Amino acid sequence: MPPKQPSIFDLMNEESESQQQVDEEAERKQRRKELLEPTGVKELFKEGNIKINKFTCVGGQCKLCIKACPTNALYWGTGEVGVIEDLCVYCGACVLNCMVDDCIKVERTREDGKVERFSKPKDVIMLGQKKGVEKRLQRVTSILPDREAYCKKYVDKDIDLQC
Ligand code: SF4
Ligand code: SF4
Repeated sequence: MPPKQPSIFDLMNEESESQQQVDEEAERKQRRKELLEPTGVKELFKEGNIKINKFTCVGGQCKLCIKACPTNALYWGTGEVGVIEDLCVYCGACVLNCMVDDCIKVERTREDGKVERFSKPKDVIMLGQKKGVEKRLQRVTSILPDREAYCKKYVDKDIDLQC
């Protein structure tokens, strides 16, 4: 039997659903902008998500993540750490300060589409170092273009070349 062709109503429904998604996304971005403005913290990532494992979190005795968060996205709620997702910029400060590995998991997408996932302080440190090396490499190759291939092999190996 040949596949059923979509009717004009199906096509109209699809179009209105995708328009609704676009509107919701625009609303979400505007809401985040308004909430983040007073904190002075800029969005650095296209999107992301954060999860906190309430079973491994030592909570009341710790709260280091809450103190470290630059946007007050974390709070102490009914016996556990809560997240206001609209305030989270996926910076990783909470993961860097958490005393339990893999308790907080952050996933974020950079403007160039690169996805980063981390859940341990050492992951955050390594990502920061790698970013620093990339920036230095860009600076060096803008002055000495022929050094690009030489420097790149070190970036790929996560070795800080200080170049
Ligand atoms: S990643 Fe953590 S520290 Fe950074 S904004 Fe989100 S909740 Fe706050
Ligand atoms: S820093 Fe980690 S262990 Fe401490 S309260 Fe936050 S999530 Fe829980």
